[in-house]
Amino acid sequence: MKFGGTSVADAERIKRAARRIVAQREQGKRVVAVLSARGHTTDELIKAAEEVSPHPDPREMDMLLSTGERISCALCAMAINDLGHKAISLTGSQAGIVTDTSHTRARILDVRADRIRQALDEDMIVLVAGFQGVSTSLDVTTLGRGGSDTTAVAVAAALNAEVCEIYTDVRGVYSADPRLVPDARKLPVVSFEEMLEMAASGAKVLQLRSVEYARTHGVRIHCRASFEDGPGTFVIGEDETMEHPLITAVTHSTDEARITLTGVPDRPGAAASVFEALAAAGCNVDTIIQNEPKGDGAEAELSFTIPSEDLRDAEVALAPVITEHGMRIGTDQQIGKVSIIGAGMRSHPGVAASVFRTLATQEINIEMISTSPIKISCIIRAERVPEAVRALHSAFQLSETDIHEDPPMGQTPR
Ligand code: ASP
Ligand code: MG
Repeated sequence: MKFGGTSVADAERIKRAARRIVAQREQGKRVVAVLSARGHTTDELIKAAEEVSPHPDPREMDMLLSTGERISCALCAMAINDLGHKAISLTGSQAGIVTDTSHTRARILDVRADRIRQALDEDMIVLVAGFQGVSTSLDVTTLGRGGSDTTAVAVAAALNAEVCEIYTDVRGVYSADPRLVPDARKLPVVSFEEMLEMAASGAKVLQLRSVEYARTHGVRIHCRASFEDGPGTFVIGEDETMEHPLITAVTHSTDEARITLTGVPDRPGAAASVFEALAAAGCNVDTIIQNEPKGDGAEAELSFTIPSEDLRDAEVALAPVITEHGMRIGTDQQIGKVSIIGAGMRSHPGVAASVFRTLATQEINIEMISTSPIKISCIIRAERVPEAVRALHSAFQLSETDIHEDPPMGQTPR
């Protein structure tokens, strides 16, 4: 059972989480709970670091950030003990979460869960601090924002758990962000593949890495509300899902920035040197477009998107490459992205046409396009994102109330 930050934000909610954990235990289940830091704790810790240092040392940053999750676990263990059950809280390191050495964005290499198993055998409820581990060089590491999801999935995989339940402040995974689309539908199941695309294109319910980990290790995820009972969304293998809708969800993001390089020399290796520099700086590049230079000695223009938070690192990393090749750089932080995702589009023509027509009808200009077999993403102006999400959600009839009698193709308003 994993509880997110809002689900443990205050004393009442910690006690509520404790009661839910105990209720499962009383049904005869053995329970490991992974908790996030309370409310905005992680943001506050980051701010505290920035107040004392403009570029906080990453190792010390991890020492600091890992405390948030420990607080939650210790408090929850106290609450569980008061309910008459035995609980023990463990740091990531005590729980055997071994990571690589890349501070603030470490990857889990191994979960040595002996101590967790031993505590379970002693009939204890085990609370594991999310979002952290210990590196191969014995330093405390953290797993990147939202990393408690990955802790939960990794622990579930190591213990061969029946299910990894992610308790959160929403009822599950929706066909679009309910704050933008009030009649968005709660999805009963989504496949790992769809969930990966959704997490990568802006859905915030699950950290992308946790979904990758779950797919690799075959961990069943159940995403559900911490404030009420009842099923949420199951994330499972594509072969296990009965539903194969054409389009499953519309996602969006305004957390990306675009970098455009002009004067890129038209010769082998130019793109490689740009993206090698970005890779070395740990920047995750998404949509990439390069135009085709015409004529001898012509130069190319290369545009790509990266997470806004990586923009500064990217500019620093690119500076020497730009000078070396005599390129020019431009950045744009006002971009947004809308994407539609659905396993069914693999075998259906016309989805892209419908997407583009829908946006055109709203007079929304598409600046970049990228696709995968089950996703179409369009880069547009950030301020048009809410409109675009609503238009696509209704064009593909994704609401609860929509009747799916006719295929949505060709029905897009013209
Ligand atoms: N507390 C960390 C964060 O805010 C990790 C998590 O909540 O999953 O990113
Ligand atoms: Mg989260």
